[in-house]
Amino acid sequence: MLKFDESARIIASESRYVSGGVNSNFRLGMGHGPLVFTHGQGPYLFDVDGNRIIDYYCGMGAMVLGHSPAGVLQAVKDQVEKGILYAGQSPVEYEAARIICERIPSAERLRFGSSGSEVAQAAMRLARAATGRRTVVKFEGHYHGWFDNILWSTAPALADAGPGDDPVLVSGSKGQPREDSDGLDVLQWNDLAAVEARLSRGDVAAVLMEAAMCNQGAIAPMPGYLEGVQAACRKYGTILIFDEVITGFRLGGQGAQGRFDVTPDLSIFAKAIANGFPVAAIVGRADLMDMFATGGVLHGGTFNSQPVTMAAMIATQKALTPEHYEKSSAYGVRLRNGMRDALAEAGVRAQVTGFELMFHVAFGMDAPARNYRNLAGSDKAGYARFAKALLSRGVRVLERGAWFVSSEHDDDVVDQTLEAVRAAAKEVAP
Ligand code: PLP
Repeated sequence: MLKFDESARIIASESRYVSGGVNSNFRLGMGHGPLVFTHGQGPYLFDVDGNRIIDYYCGMGAMVLGHSPAGVLQAVKDQVEKGILYAGQSPVEYEAARIICERIPSAERLRFGSSGSEVAQAAMRLARAATGRRTVVKFEGHYHGWFDNILWSTAPALADAGPGDDPVLVSGSKGQPREDSDGLDVLQWNDLAAVEARLSRGDVAAVLMEAAMCNQGAIAPMPGYLEGVQAACRKYGTILIFDEVITGFRLGGQGAQGRFDVTPDLSIFAKAIANGFPVAAIVGRADLMDMFATGGVLHGGTFNSQPVTMAAMIATQKALTPEHYEKSSAYGVRLRNGMRDALAEAGVRAQVTGFELMFHVAFGMDAPARNYRNLAGSDKAGYARFAKALLSRGVRVLERGAWFVSSEHDDDVVDQTLEAVRAAAKEVAP
């Protein structure tokens, strides 16, 4: 069993300078406490206790090529020699833009940013400016960044969330002014009638959704749902925005929009777009995107299209070939199926749902969830014990049930993982 004593010692001592020892609340989790890493290579992270750990966080979904891919590292080294930040344009950002626009169905034009949270704000501003309306409809369990006007109902306690057919907005943090939710409405996802009824009031600027729900669970849209939402948006003059921060370059090279063949008006990308370098993008219809240039809609950011990150992005995108998806999807499917078998053999009631390179394991469920409320009934404490048992065996997974797979999680790594899964499942089985 692995030990994490040195990580614990460092976190305790460095908490004197860094709040909680971490620079994002989302890193506080895990039964063992936050870990301190020295380096990453392929599917592995190495920590200050000398442990080698198979990593299924994958940079919270960003590392679709695994840790330290040679091509990306070389591109960064080459670019960094040429300067760090020009506060002006460079050929490298135009090449990066061309690649995304040629690849992503909705991308007639784009603007780059640095984080998913930030481009979500840009998308809402653009939709409000284009429609002259205020309300953005979002969905329970969907996460679009940590800013005050959108961090609502991302993982609400059901006791606070009102009835399923008329949910109320629940804040995600202390310190969020209630007024900041004034321009927001929340619905249950995967319920087309609810969207149609809300849009028919004619006052909705945008519908903003993860086109496959991946922050809570890994849930595909019901057949016809995305098409139905798109038709309702067109009928009532509402902008459809897909948040592809997780799904982009993970559900295939064209994201969820390519996979489900529904092209939104706007979409946002981050995470896997540059395999761990801070690049985000808002992409969409030319008439909407041109409002940044000529329509009086402000979009800024000192670090936007920083050339080193652009070089990383181009190298990442070049590596995301059809062969990449074929190979890594085979690993993901093997792992997902092996997990299902291992949990069943151990007598653990669980649902394994989702996609090839991103799936979710929910304990205590007899049927797959189709929305946040279904999932809220899962056995979270049981899964957290499982995650802790896995980490002791050198496999790092998110406590909320998500598994991110990269092209480096090959058959050998999958075998090692499944061995740990079988042992951990036995340990936590009822
Ligand atoms: N949208 C989705 C779907 C996300 O999963 C995240 C982050 O996890 C964000 C937006 C926010 O992105 P960032 O953490 O880069 O600000």
